[in-house]
Amino acid sequence: MLSKKKINAKWGKIMETRNCRMCGKLFNYINSPVCPACAKDMEEKFDQVKAYIYDHPGAGIKEVSEENDVSQSMIKRWIKEERLSFAEDSQVTFACEKCGKSIRTGRFCPECKGKMQHELGGLYHKEEPKRERKRDTSAKMRFLG
Ligand SMILES: [Zn+2]
Ligand SMILES: [Zn+2]
Repeated sequence: MLSKKKINAKWGKIMETRNCRMCGKLFNYINSPVCPACAKDMEEKFDQVKAYIYDHPGAGIKEVSEENDVSQSMIKRWIKEERLSFAEDSQVTFACEKCGKSIRTGRFCPECKGKMQHELGGLYHKEEPKRERKRDTSAKMRFLG
């Protein structure tokens, strides 16, 4: 009895079903909020939007959204995921979520991103192999004479 329960619980977790965020259909959830059919549609839309931005570097989000029949929030999501970016001279800008500086892709400006990566790097930094370092220094010293 007990072991059967265990197995059921395990499968319940694996076969979790959710409603697709796009079409509302029930599907076996893996790691995407949308069903496989909509995910495929979205990939096609993404390629279309990317090509459109490439051909129309000056286009704003509203124009891209209307011309490609994609919601503005979808486009913004792609930008935050850094899958899409707008040209340097584009009118489209976003505010860095940390310092508010205007950026064109992602969620943070390069400066904040660098700082955050540095902080993360410090947390998870693994000591470099000492042997490598020693060899480096001695080689440099020899070179300097
Ligand atoms: Zn769907
Ligand atoms: Zn910033």
